[in-house]
Parts: sequence; C-alpha cells; structure tokens
Amino acid sequence: MSAPLRLMAVHAHPDDESSKGAATMARYVREGVEVLVCTLTGGERGSVLNPKMDRPEIVADIGEVRRAEMARAREILGVEQRFMGFVDSGLPENEEEELPEGCFALQKLEDASAPLVAAVRAFRPHVIITYDDDGGYPHPDHIMTNKVSVEAFDAAGDPDRYPGSGDPWQPLKLYYQMGFTKERFEALHEAMNERGLGSPYADWISRWEDRPAKWPVTTRVPCGDYFQIRDEALLAHATQVDPDGFWFVCPRELQEEIWPTEDYHLARSLVDTALPEDDLFAGIHADDVSPACH
Ligand SMILES: [Zn+2]
Repeated sequence: MSAPLRLMAVHAHPDDESSKGAATMARYVREGVEVLVCTLTGGERGSVLNPKMDRPEIVADIGEVRRAEMARAREILGVEQRFMGFVDSGLPENEEEELPEGCFALQKLEDASAPLVAAVRAFRPHVIITYDDDGGYPHPDHIMTNKVSVEAFDAAGDPDRYPGSGDPWQPLKLYYQMGFTKERFEALHEAMNERGLGSPYADWISRWEDRPAKWPVTTRVPCGDYFQIRDEALLAHATQVDPDGFWFVCPRELQEEIWPTEDYHLARSLVDTALPEDDLFAGIHADDVSPACH
C-alpha cells in the first residue's frame, strides 16, 4: 500500500489505552501504521490505586502527575496521543450519587463529540477502536466514550454535520475492544491452576453471568510478542497500576502461550470483510487509503 494506514483508539482516561488494546497498537505502530490515541478526559478524579504512590503530594497534583504518566506510556507504545479536553466524571459510589457539574459524562452529545469529530477529520483514520455501549466497565466516562465514538464515526463524513471542524472524513471500520471476556479469563484460570500457580479469578468467574455475549468477538489480533510493551506502558501509569496487583497476577509468558491475542467486535464496517478476522484492516484496500492531511 502506498499511503500508511491509520488507526485511532478512543479512550476515557489516561491508562485506559495501556490496559485495553495496547499490544495491538504497539504491533501496528511497529508495522508502519500511524496510531493516534484520543483521551477524552484528563483523569483528574481517578483515585490513586497503587498504595506505593498514595502520598499527599501526588494526590494534590493528580492531574499533572497523570499527564506525565501518559507522556511516558505514549513513548513506550510509540503512538501519538491527544487529550480532548474534558473533565473526568469520577466513578460514583452508588446509583444515587450525582455526577459533578461540568464533567464529561454530563455534556450534551454534540458538545462531547465535537473535539473527537475534529480529530477524526484531521487524522483521517481508516479504523477506530472504542468501548462497547456498556463501556466495557460501568464508569460513566466509559459509557460516554462509546456514545461519542459512535457519533464521530457516523458524523465525521457528513459535510452537513459539525460545520467548521474540518473537511469530512469517513472512517471505514469501528471496533469495540473485548478484553474482558469470560472465555479468556476461564482459559487463563485453568492454565494457572494446571500449573499449580493458584488462580485468583475463581470468584470473579463464578459471578459472571452465563449468557451469550452481547458483542461477540469477531476479530482476534495476534500480539503476544507485544505484551511486554503493553505491561511497561501500564506500569508507566504508576498512580493507577499496582505492580503487585490485578494486572500482573497472571504471568506474561502464560498469557503469551494461552491467549496471545487481543480481541474485538466489529461494530460497523463500510468494507467487505470475512469473519472471523485476525487484522483490524482486513478488507481495506489500497484504493481506500488516501494520504493523511494533518
Ligand atoms: Zn477509564
């Protein structure tokens, strides 16, 4: 192909890009694809989740600390990254708790989508990755991230929508990231038990409802060789990721052997492609790929 392919990943907070689809991005970047991460909020309301980093001077300056962490993760992954400028909504402790005024999840859809539409028109991605409509995990910012990503995918190519935010550009495929599937955790759980490592996932798996997936996996991207880069990027988010915690319980070598892919649901496609796929760009041909205009 003459012009490079371009991939955009839309995320709610700094650190989400390193825990959802990071090895996929690391692989594509190293294969010559241009990758842009759009981070909708600054993560200002994230708690410090790593006890080793829970110090007053860090808590007091969490916005700045998280920007520095994001810059480091971006370098490790090798991607471009931009903040879309919204304020973290925080994770409510119960259903009655009201979201803070002005936060991302309370924005009108059009206001919340405008910077992303502009980013799509400027970067001109062929493929966009985001979360499913449950947000992948029920944080109000993650659910809103799904809504604005779908809106941007549908509207960025329409010259009558979002006037003044650049020349129209229609991305070709939209994916939902499907990292937290029952099958994947069951496979890792079994492998850990077989090897006498003791799995911490039993309780969690037993509470998982046994029903057909709302968004079945259509696409598995082989990227086990990039799990190390993924882990390094995750560790760069030191306030959010405990090196002795959840993310690192299952040895990386075991993940590479048992589940060496990151998985996706193809939510929209304007090209013909045969399912299942092993490449996010499957079905996209040289004719579809026009040069970027940054
Ligand atoms: Zn998040």
